[in-house]
Amino acid sequence: MSRRTWWSLGGLAALALLAVLMTVDIMPHEEYVPEPEAAVPTEDTIPDPPSAYGIPLDGFVIDQQHIKRGDTFGDLLAAHGVSYGVVDSLVNVAAGSFDVRHMHVGHPIAYVFTSDTTALLSYFVYEVDPVEHVVFHVLPPYDVRVGHRKVDTTERALSVEVTGALYNDLANAGGDPRLAMLLADIYAWTVDFYRIQKGDRFSVVFEEHTVDGQPYGDPEVLAARYISGEMTKEAYRFAQDSAMGYFDAEGNSLRKAFLQAPLKFSRISSGFSRHRFHPVQKRFKAHLGTDYAAPYGTPIHSVGDGVVEKAGYTAGNGNYVKIRHNSVYETQYLHMRKILVKLGQRVAQGQVIGEVGSTGLATGPHVCFRFWKNGVQVDHRKEELPSADPVTPAHMAAFQQERMPLAQALDGAGDRRDPTVEF
Ligand SMILES: [Zn+2]
Repeated sequence: MSRRTWWSLGGLAALALLAVLMTVDIMPHEEYVPEPEAAVPTEDTIPDPPSAYGIPLDGFVIDQQHIKRGDTFGDLLAAHGVSYGVVDSLVNVAAGSFDVRHMHVGHPIAYVFTSDTTALLSYFVYEVDPVEHVVFHVLPPYDVRVGHRKVDTTERALSVEVTGALYNDLANAGGDPRLAMLLADIYAWTVDFYRIQKGDRFSVVFEEHTVDGQPYGDPEVLAARYISGEMTKEAYRFAQDSAMGYFDAEGNSLRKAFLQAPLKFSRISSGFSRHRFHPVQKRFKAHLGTDYAAPYGTPIHSVGDGVVEKAGYTAGNGNYVKIRHNSVYETQYLHMRKILVKLGQRVAQGQVIGEVGSTGLATGPHVCFRFWKNGVQVDHRKEELPSADPVTPAHMAAFQQERMPLAQALDGAGDRRDPTVEF
C-alpha cells in the first residue's frame, strides 16, 4: 500500500471525526467550561465509522487521484482489472444520471479497493464538483449512485469603518472581500459608491458556505446597513413571488430604474459641466457627460434595461453605444476599446455592452457616460430616479418577521469592539 493511500485514509478519518465533532457542537462559542461530571456517550456522540462518498471504509482502502488529459472511463477501469463488458454495463446503468463522457480533466477521482490481499477494485468515484459525486459499484450487482456532500452554512455579522478601499476594510475585519462587490451590487441604485468617505460604516449580515471545512461558492448578503453622517441606508433580502430582492425597512425596493454608474469600480475623472476646458481640443466647451476612468478592458454595464439605438464609430466618440431605456431616458457610452452589442439588440440592466478604451477624442482609458431625459442631456447624478416595486401588502407581515432578527444582528455587529461576531 502506498504512502499516499495511507495519508488519504488518515485524512478521511480525521475529516469524518471533525464532521462528528461539529454536529455535536463541541466547538465552543464562549469560554469553555468543563462539564462537572464525566459525560456518558449517548448514541449521538458515538462517532460513525470512517466513510467516504457514503462508502464505509471498514475493510476498504481508498486511492484518490485526478482525471488526466486523455483519460477515459473505460481505460481507467480496465487498468484496474475491470473488463470492458463490465464497463459497458456500468455505462448503461449510469445512463440517465451521469454520462461518463462528461468527466473533466483535473476533477478528483477515487478507487476503493478491498483491504485484503486480493485488493479487488470495488468502487470508482468521480467528483462532479465539491458537492456532487458519482459512485460506481464495479462488482455485481452493478450500481451507480449520485451522492452529495453536505453544504454547511454559517451566518455571520460584520461591521467595518471605511478607511480606504471597502474590500480591504472587509478583508482586514476577517470578511470575504467579495462582499464589497456584493454590496456594490445591492446598493448600485441607492448609494453612489464614488462618494463613499472615510468614516462611513458598513454593517453586513451574511451567509458563508463550506463543504468539508473548505469555502464553497459565494457568500450571500442577508442584510446590510450603510451609515454616512446622518444618512442610513438599509438593505434586507426578501423573496416575494419567487423574485429575490433587497428592500429598506419599510419594504421599498433598493432597485431603481438605473445603475448609478456604468462601471463597478473606477473614479470620476471629469464631471458633467456646461463649461470646461477640453483636454484634447484645448478649448472651452460644454462636457455633457461624466467621465469614469478605469483600466483598458474594464467591463462597461448598461445602466438599465433597453434597446441598442446606436453602435458604431465617430471621430469624436470613438467606438460608442447608445441605449434607449424607455420613452423618457437614453444613455450613451463613449471611447470603448470594444463594442459587445449590436444595433437593435435588447439589453438587460447590468449587462456588459463593451470594454473601456480610449478610441476617439480621449487622452486615456475612460468611459464618457451621457444621459438624456426627454431628449435633453442632463447630469444623471442629480436626477431623482424612480424606485422599482416595493414589498406588496400581502407579503409585508412576512417581510417584517424576517427583517427583525436581521436588524438585531446588524445592531449587534455595529456595537461590538471586535468587528467580527459569530452567532
Ligand atoms: Zn467625457
